[in-house]
Amino acid sequence: EKVFSGFSKTRENLAVIDELLLYWNLADTDKVLDELEEALLVSDFGPRITVKIVESLREDILSGKLKSGSEIKDALKKSVLELITTRGSKTELQLGFRKPAVVIIVGVNGGGKTTSLGKLAYRLKNEGAKILMAAGDTFRAAASDQLEIWAERTGCEIVVAEKDKAKASSVLSQAVKRGKEQGFDVVLCDTSGRLHTNFSLMEELIACKKAVGKIVPGAPNEILLVLDGTTGLNMLPQAREFNEVVGITGLILTKLDGSARGGCVVSVVDELGIPVKFVGVGEGVEDLQPFDAEAFVNAIFS
Ligand code: GDP
Repeated sequence: EKVFSGFSKTRENLAVIDELLLYWNLADTDKVLDELEEALLVSDFGPRITVKIVESLREDILSGKLKSGSEIKDALKKSVLELITTRGSKTELQLGFRKPAVVIIVGVNGGGKTTSLGKLAYRLKNEGAKILMAAGDTFRAAASDQLEIWAERTGCEIVVAEKDKAKASSVLSQAVKRGKEQGFDVVLCDTSGRLHTNFSLMEELIACKKAVGKIVPGAPNEILLVLDGTTGLNMLPQAREFNEVVGITGLILTKLDGSARGGCVVSVVDELGIPVKFVGVGEGVEDLQPFDAEAFVNAIFS
C-alpha cells in the first residue's frame, strides 16, 4: 500500500517486541516493557508519550486486565490510536459557510507547503470547488513560480505579488478580495517558511491572519501546518511555536512515502491536540490523502 510505505523503519523497530509477546508470561513483564520502551524511543515517540504508554500497559498487566501477549499488543495499538485521535476536533477540513473559505498553509521551508497546497487544490477542485491560489511566499523568489506551475497543473487561478518584496499579507488580501468578488469557494494561501525561530516570519503570519479576517469574517477557516514526516522529533518544537503564534487548526504530514518516522506525530497530536488532516504520500497531484488514524496505527505496528 502506497499510503504508509514510509514507516518501514518504525515498523521494524517495533517488531522486536512481537516475539517477546508471543511467548509472554507475567514474569517477563519488566523485560518486555523495557524492550517496548526502547523500541518506542528509537521510533521517535519521545520520552513523555513513551512513559505514558508503557506505564499504562504495566498497570493493566499487573492488575490482570491484560492476560496474554496478544492482548498486550492490542492494548498497545489501542493506546497509540487514542493518542493520535484528537478529542473533539475534526479531521475533515472545516470550511464554514461564508464564501470564500480561506485556508492558510504554514510551515518551515522544504517541508512541502507549496506541493501540499497544489495537491489540496486538486482534491478540492475534484470535489467541485472553485479554487483560487494565493502566492504568499513573497520571500523566496522561486516560490511563486513553483505555485504557478501547480496552478496550471490543476487548472486553478492564482494571485501573485505585483511587485518585488510585496508583503505576504497584501497578496493574501488581494486574493481573498478577488475570491469574494468573483465567487470562488476556497482561497488557498501559501506563506513563506523561513526558519520558525525567525521573529519577523511570525509577525508576518499574524498580519496575514488579520488581513484575511478583515475581508471575510471568521477567516481564515483553517491554518494548516505542514510537517515533514522525515524530520523526527524536531517537528515538536516547530509545531509548538507555530501553534503559539498563529493557532494551528490542522496538520498536513508530508513525505510519508519516504523514510518517515511515525512516533513523533503521535507526540505532536497528543501534546498540542491538533488533528492530522492530510498526509502527503508522493509528489504527484493525487498524492494527498485524508488522514486515517487506524491505517496509521496498522502501518507502524505490523
Ligand atoms: P515548501 O518549501 O514547504 O513549499 O516545500 P515544497 O512544496 O517546495 O516541497 C519540498 C520538496 O519536497 C519538493 O521537492 C517536493 O516535491 C517534496 N515533497 C513534498 N511533499 C512530498 C511528499 O508527500 N512526498 C515526497 N516524496 N516528496 C514530497
